[in-house]
Amino acid sequence: MTTTIIGFPRIGEYRELKFATEKYFRQEISEADLQETARALRQKHWQTLKDSGIDEIPSNDFSFYDTTLDTAFLFNILPSEIKDIELSSLDQYFALARGYQGPKGDIKARPMKKWFNTNYHYLVPKFEADTKIKLNDEKIFQEFKEAQALGITTRPVLVGPFTLLSLGEYAAGSTPRDFAKALVAAYKEVLTKLADLGAQWLQLDEPALVKDLTATDLALFEEIYQELLADKPLKVLLQTYFGDIRDAYDSVIALPFDGIGLDFVEGVQSLALVEKGFPKDKRLYAGVVNGKNIWRNDYQKTLDLLAQLPQTAVLSTSCSLLHVPYTTANEDFAPEIVAHFAFAKEKLQELTDLAAIRQDNHSPLTVNQALFAQKRFAPDPQVQANLAALTPEDFVRTPAFAQREALQKAVFQLPLLPTTTIGSFPQTREVKRTRAQFKRQEITEAAYDAFVAAQIDDWLAWQEAIGLDVLVHGEFERNDMVEYFGQNLAGYLFSKNGWVQSYGTRGVKPPIIWGDIKRGAAITVKWSQYAQSRTDKFVKGMLTGPVTILNWSFPREDISLKDATLQLALAIQEEVLDLEAHGISMIQIDEAALREKLPLRKSDWYQEYLDWAIPAFRLVHSKVSATTQIHTHMCYSEFTDIIPAIENLDADVISFEASRSNLEILDALKAQNFQTQVGPGVYDIHSPRVPSVSEISETIEKILAKVTPEKLWINPDCGLKTRGIPETRESLANLTTAAKAIRQTI
Ligand code: GLN
Ligand code: ZN
Repeated sequence: MTTTIIGFPRIGEYRELKFATEKYFRQEISEADLQETARALRQKHWQTLKDSGIDEIPSNDFSFYDTTLDTAFLFNILPSEIKDIELSSLDQYFALARGYQGPKGDIKARPMKKWFNTNYHYLVPKFEADTKIKLNDEKIFQEFKEAQALGITTRPVLVGPFTLLSLGEYAAGSTPRDFAKALVAAYKEVLTKLADLGAQWLQLDEPALVKDLTATDLALFEEIYQELLADKPLKVLLQTYFGDIRDAYDSVIALPFDGIGLDFVEGVQSLALVEKGFPKDKRLYAGVVNGKNIWRNDYQKTLDLLAQLPQTAVLSTSCSLLHVPYTTANEDFAPEIVAHFAFAKEKLQELTDLAAIRQDNHSPLTVNQALFAQKRFAPDPQVQANLAALTPEDFVRTPAFAQREALQKAVFQLPLLPTTTIGSFPQTREVKRTRAQFKRQEITEAAYDAFVAAQIDDWLAWQEAIGLDVLVHGEFERNDMVEYFGQNLAGYLFSKNGWVQSYGTRGVKPPIIWGDIKRGAAITVKWSQYAQSRTDKFVKGMLTGPVTILNWSFPREDISLKDATLQLALAIQEEVLDLEAHGISMIQIDEAALREKLPLRKSDWYQEYLDWAIPAFRLVHSKVSATTQIHTHMCYSEFTDIIPAIENLDADVISFEASRSNLEILDALKAQNFQTQVGPGVYDIHSPRVPSVSEISETIEKILAKVTPEKLWINPDCGLKTRGIPETRESLANLTTAAKAIRQTI
């Protein structure tokens, strides 16, 4: 059996790409140095795949920032303002990714959105009336040649035209169809050039096919591919992932693709679709090794599945391995634990094991069966009992929001348009270094505590000085908003190097839910209480909500996501009540990732997800008093279509990202008479640029056209931990200046 993968992590085993790119951003290394690091990484990754025995090796899955941006760049789908700015091609690319503010101009970063149901982010391509689609870049060709020079004929990968168009942003009145023809012509040029270079296959990723598709969508898909595949000079693999393609299956098998890649992990109907009939003249690329989770593949189950698929099926992963860490080899888990994990490199071995077993070498199967026969851990009877004892009242907070709102106004006495931030302040090198020193026991707990206390004091004083109304302690004690909680909950395990790319050079290290979740001692009370004791203003307690903790962890596969979330909710509920008991009267429970795991098909949204995710959040705060103000925060404002569910969280205040997505959400909130108080972010924190007072004022005025001042909070988009101190302080000072001035006019 042939083996392949859809894509490999590009950041490097030791995050070499991140470090080199950030050095380049700080102008500490040249472009040539950065290119050299990138080249070496690509070479290592291809070689690793080859040495592991993977038969078909992809290329162009490498990216300096994001493959969707790469694809837009390849086809010259660039906003007009970038063309007027005199930067090298690579710097133009980075300017689109992260904004540019300097002697050559002022460019805002392209909006960034979550890539389907993952925590990876792509940059939204912008199709404008004057967009001239044409080949603009050599990356895909150069990388093919680079591998060729190493003796490896790769299968280049591109985001497919249908998905690229469906992810795009369009001016009013313009639609994807307007650009399809020109785009297909440009893709055809790529096919020809690749074939000329000696490529035999091209992989076009079309994850958009797993979503609900209308007849119009399907017609566009068919039109695109009828044209694109006509007289094709090489073989084309249509690769899908993150679900099944039930709406598009019939169209897909009728088109002259040479290979069709289906996801048999998340695609609940993939097997049924293939059983309906799979064309004999095409190869099925069977995504059977989970590209998103870190548990070992259960070989027997996979073999049973494979037995139902065409004999010629190619063994593959369910999605790109971009979504899992590089290798377990650099971890120090006990052998009996690590035996249960497979990161990207180990998944290569799983693919070749499965191929070997099919070829009658049974020894890997025996080892794997023994592993799955083991009992991993002993369930916690208390956790089981607590879950079983939950009643409907546990999910309802009283009194109702309207009453609470009035009571809270009286207690907190905040001005109109209260200003606040989302929680974290810059995690400077000093902060990270000190935390690491403490972790390695190089400094005493007393010294570490003194350091954190001094940071908190410094930032509290500064927040007071610029006149913020509701303060935060700054989260200096936290490495990561999920890992920090996981470390303080039983049932979690942590990798040392399990980094996964989130966006650009930013990675996350999702913790692993190994067993039942239970809170031991208080987690955040110490520092929240300390901060509140140092100021007369209110300091928000800062927690991560259960849905986000789950979504940013590697979840168990032996219990339902719902039960896993409820376990987390009960643990965080204890923390909420503990904070309240210690005098914290505003508590923010971040649900940054709530929207992320919304099923890709709308028809599944409530039943498969929101019907338990929203109650899990309610469970966390249902027992607090009416005058404890519950805030929540969501990254990205793409919840226009689930506004009732968000209202149903029954929080008192919600802050969310809005500046990068043009405030569209506000119309919808108004139309649906949203009652929860709102803090739509007034500037973008994902970029180092400093918004001026007038820029922020304009944004606030725009928001005020849609939100009544009694409901409005003024805050940045998200936490500030990735920013530098000077830009943070300047931006926030501008924010308070703008808010105060506008307050006078109301
Ligand atoms: N409170 C967190 C912070 O400020 C929220 C981060 C997030 O939404 N991703 O960092
Ligand atoms: Zn956020």
